[in-house]
Formats: sequence, structure tokens, C-alpha cells
Amino acid sequence: MITQLSNADLAQRDRNVLWHPCTQMKDHEAWPPIPIKRAEGVWLEDHDGHRYLDAISSWWVNLFGHANPRINQAIADQLGTLEQVMLSGFTHEPVVRLSERLVEITPTGLDRCFFADNGSCAVEIAMKMSFHYWLNCGKPGKKRFVNLANAYHGETLGALSVCDVPLYKKTYGPLLLDVITAPSPDCYHREAGQSWEDFSRQQFVEMEKILADQNEEICAVIVEPLVQGAGFMRMYHPIYLKLLREACDKYDVHLIADEIATGFGRTGTLFACEQANISPDFMCLSKGITGGYLPLSTVLTRENIYQAFYDDFTNLTGFLHSHSYTGNPLACQAAHATLDIFEQDNVIENNKKLAAIMGQATASFVDHPNIAEVRQTGMILAIEIVKNKQTKEPFPWQERRGRKAFRYAMDQGVLLRPMGDVIYFMPPYVINEEEIKLMAKVALESIDHALKDKR
Ligand code: PMP
Repeated sequence: MITQLSNADLAQRDRNVLWHPCTQMKDHEAWPPIPIKRAEGVWLEDHDGHRYLDAISSWWVNLFGHANPRINQAIADQLGTLEQVMLSGFTHEPVVRLSERLVEITPTGLDRCFFADNGSCAVEIAMKMSFHYWLNCGKPGKKRFVNLANAYHGETLGALSVCDVPLYKKTYGPLLLDVITAPSPDCYHREAGQSWEDFSRQQFVEMEKILADQNEEICAVIVEPLVQGAGFMRMYHPIYLKLLREACDKYDVHLIADEIATGFGRTGTLFACEQANISPDFMCLSKGITGGYLPLSTVLTRENIYQAFYDDFTNLTGFLHSHSYTGNPLACQAAHATLDIFEQDNVIENNKKLAAIMGQATASFVDHPNIAEVRQTGMILAIEIVKNKQTKEPFPWQERRGRKAFRYAMDQGVLLRPMGDVIYFMPPYVINEEEIKLMAKVALESIDHALKDKR
């Protein structure tokens, strides 16, 4: 006999044995995790038959919908041939061809791929490679990293060191590397009437000074191009990246572009760096690379960096880093199917229409008395809820307004999952106009619900 599992059954069993990421588990006493049974397109369905529009692409990974037939097929085909082989001393066709394709579609000069299996590890790799490059070049003193205020780059210790979001970082501070933090180009706090370009330029002044004064001890600057994702979807102008590229060249410092969240079309171009017409020294990719199916990440870098490690074994200059599942063939095939969809379906052009619909659907939100800003970069749109619209004073974080909005929206069938009091949309690219309107309507209702007991 097949037993039908309910939400309550699974949630109870879950509470006995699981410990969930990014969660105060006690919160689940009041609101247990939702057991998802199946998913298709932009819709998730739980064990009690409720459906939820996945407005945040399941932590920003899903690009072309859940259970996408083309990606399903690619993985199924690979499954019968080769599921996994280690990438040290061995190779396989899916990873070779994927590297060729990534070199082709990423900005000029990024000609080598080093694989891993998640975003944080890609950041670790870029950091280690940068330091090790300078070491191999006889500059062991270049060992510090510069990050931006409000940055997020993952939560393993190296990646966490270059984060600046206190929620994730503060507790673990004693374990972390000492980094140099430059002001963020994030335009939320610009003066009234000041342009994004002007503000981002102004914020660069301090970065230039850091590079001018301390370049002998700095190996790399790491940034999330155009959108600081987990830092509340704060956005900035491409001019900052242009100025940063020039300064990194001038002061002999690497530029690491963490495109883990922004890559694969999220910001309106395939990669955010394209909007500044720059090419970094390291580009970290993950999340959307497999269409949101399987864990995979890669760091692309330049031939001259690769050559600095290329030597006789006995000189011990080789790059030492490995993960068991590096370059997994199933994940690589999911990536091929994802890149095929980009090639065949005119995705970037179609997304322009979807982005415009998202903008129109939320255009009136700026008049709301507790919405300080509605900002958008391509397929990412964020709504900042505040206590005081004039001063941008936030609600006390302990009031958890965003969480109230989240819970209300789930009851209406939309998965929004705000960060603090910022509600954002980052949907799969297969969303349609009607679904965008639903997402916007529920977002506004959820905000009003979360403000009900406003003091
Ligand atoms: N960098 C950025 C910009 C990210 O947004 C994330 C994930 N949210 C990471 C790194 C870390 O990726 P992962 O969760 O796969 O470790």
C-alpha cells in the first residue's frame, strides 16, 4: 500500500532529524518547513496540494523552470553513460566541451576554467589562485583582499572573510582573514536628485585611495558586479566596474568578479561585466550555470595567470585545490542544455520584455508611504520597505516585517522570501505576464499586511 504523505507528516519527521541552512530552527515551532512534492515551470507544489509561484528561483538558481524537459532529457541521456569520474588525472567530453563554450561566451581573455561544485568554493579558489599567482611571481607580500561594504560571497571561511553582511559574518569574525573594506557603490543612499552614475563614481574615490596606498600588500579586489545580492539586492552603476578595472591594472591588483548570482542573464546581459565592457582576472560562476538543477561552479581566468603555475612538478608551483565532485558530468550536461536554451530561444531579448513588465507591474509602488525605493537591474527587482520614507529609517529588525510579508505571501501562493525588509523578484525566465502581475499584486498585499500594526 502506498501511504500518502501530508505536509504535517513530513514536517514532523524533518524536525526530528534535520538542521536547515540559514535558519533559526526554533522558528519552525511556529511555522514548519514546507515539504515540496513536485515542481513544474515557476510553480512548486507541496504535499497537501498547495502551489507556490517561485518568485526567487529557489535561491536564484533556476533559470528555465522546474522540470524543464530539455534539461531533464540532457541529464537522463548522460546518466546512462557516465555519472561521475574524478577530474584529477581524468577528463570527459562534457567538461571539455563546457569549458570551450564558457571560454567562448565570457568576456575576452578568460581562457581557462577551473571547476568546483558550489559558489563559495569558486570564491575560495579565486582567492587562493590570486594569492598563489603573486607568490609564484616572487611577490609573497601580496596577500590581502579588498571587498566592498555590504558584500556577500558565500559562507565558507575564506569566502565569508570577504563578505560584509553582519548577519552572516559577525559571529565568526575571530576565525576570518583580515580584509580591507571599501565603501559600497550601492546607490540606495545617494542624495535626492543624484544620478546612479554620479554616486557610484563618488564612492570609487576611497577604493582608488586604498589601491594607491596599499597595493603592495593587496592581491585582489572582489566584487559582485552591478547587484549586491544577499546584501539586500542593492544596485550600482557600471561606471564603478570600469573605474575599478582601470585602477586594478594601474596598481597591479587582480579583479575578481563574483558573477555567481548575476551571471547567466540576471542583470539583463549574459554577464553583468558586459555592461561595463570589462573583463576581470577571475570570474566565478555557479547557480544558474546548470539551470538550477545540479551543483556546479567554475572559475575562469587568464592564460598568463595559468602560465605562472605551469612548471616542472619538482618546483612545486602547481595550484593545489580539489573537491570530489569537481566538474561532475551530469552537472556539465545540465549546463550544456542551459547554454543550448540561451542559444536557441533568444533569452536575453525576451527577458527585456519580462523585465519591462516587472517594472510596469510595480511602477505605482513608489507612491506607497512605506516603500523607500523600487530598484531594478534587468530581471532583478527589489522593493525597500521602511518605517520613514523621508529619512529611509528602517523598521527595527526585531519586528521582522519582511518575515510577516513572506508568510502572508505564501498563504496567497507566492514564494517571495524577503531579505530583512527588502522584498525582491528574481524569477525563472519562463514566467509569463499574468504570473508577474500576480507576483506584484501579492507583494503589495503582503507589504500592507506586514505593516498592519505599524507604530
Ligand atoms: N557569491 C554570491 C554573489 C552569491 O550570491 C552566493 C550565493 N547566494 C555565493 C557566492 C555562494 O554560493 P553557494 O551558496 O553556492 O556557496
